[in-house]
Amino acid sequence: MSADTPIQIGQGPKKKGPGGKSSRGSHQLAAVSNCARSWRLRYRKHLVPEFEPKHRMIGTAIHTCAAYHYNKRMATPYEWPLPLDEALKNDCRRGGIPEHEIQADSNVGVDFEVIEQAHAVMREYIDIYSDEPWDPLYIEEEFAMRVGDLDPDGRDGVLDDELVTVRPDLVIRSRINGQVYIVDHKTTSKSGWRDKNRLPVWNQRENEYRVPWQPMLYLHVMRHNLGQGAVAGFVINRIRRERGPQTGKFDFSRHLLDIPESMYREVPGAVRERVGWEAELDRMIAEGKMPRPNPSACHGVFGPCDYVDLCTAPSQRHVAALIGLPVEPLPGESLPPRRYVSRK
Ligand code: SF4
Repeated sequence: MSADTPIQIGQGPKKKGPGGKSSRGSHQLAAVSNCARSWRLRYRKHLVPEFEPKHRMIGTAIHTCAAYHYNKRMATPYEWPLPLDEALKNDCRRGGIPEHEIQADSNVGVDFEVIEQAHAVMREYIDIYSDEPWDPLYIEEEFAMRVGDLDPDGRDGVLDDELVTVRPDLVIRSRINGQVYIVDHKTTSKSGWRDKNRLPVWNQRENEYRVPWQPMLYLHVMRHNLGQGAVAGFVINRIRRERGPQTGKFDFSRHLLDIPESMYREVPGAVRERVGWEAELDRMIAEGKMPRPNPSACHGVFGPCDYVDLCTAPSQRHVAALIGLPVEPLPGESLPPRRYVSRK
């Protein structure tokens, strides 16, 4: 592969529809920074909790509704195989249901309340943004970049051909200024501190996007693929998934991020470093050594780490039971039910 070749991987959504993770995206690179053990469980063992918390299910369903909404406005829409309501059933099914039961009845285990809530959010969203001056260009399309192109100053002949990937929720062209923007939908339950029915007043210096690692990587990769100067910025599209207690309405706001220039320039080196950590961890694991835990990362702003049950299991037999391996309890032993499934 030659340097500076744009790499658009993204035929996936045309075949499968929206959803799914990026091949080596910002979440994976963040995971290897946070806790090598959680990185291994998620990105090497592909283990995920079998039962999704409801708020995540709603968030996923809203992303799916938004993808289908913008797809209707594409100049050439993607040909996704499932109609929206069938795709939503896959997003909103509680865990623990055998595949053959799902094949027999696509409604089995579906939380229709969540689907209805996602539809209700999107009805208000579409109403509020009915004259939105956005022409969608790509929806959940995956783009990639060689580490050697991202970080030419650090070329080492070892990691240069490794790829990093991004999968933006939406890329649009503004009808106002003709510029291209990456749009990321962020669903939240937060209400504001001034008015309980509003999202928090936007102040980038006080919120979680102050040092936006994900947007900075997205901008690097998309500018490489679409051309330097072609992508003007990154928009946070906030969607409140709960109705305000007083207005009974959902709430929306969108903001163009200020990207800190000095840190933007340092992201390529930081990405190379993390890709190197992954290679080092893979070598360690191949030699039979397991990554150590990082107890300081077990509880974050969004709650406990997904893998707390595995990390705190009292024995390997408990671990086996948690990931669904056949294990008979010893006399007097109580083993937990399966809580994790392997999902690539
Ligand atoms: S529970 Fe803590 S140690 Fe275990 S994977 Fe999660 S962050 Fe790492």
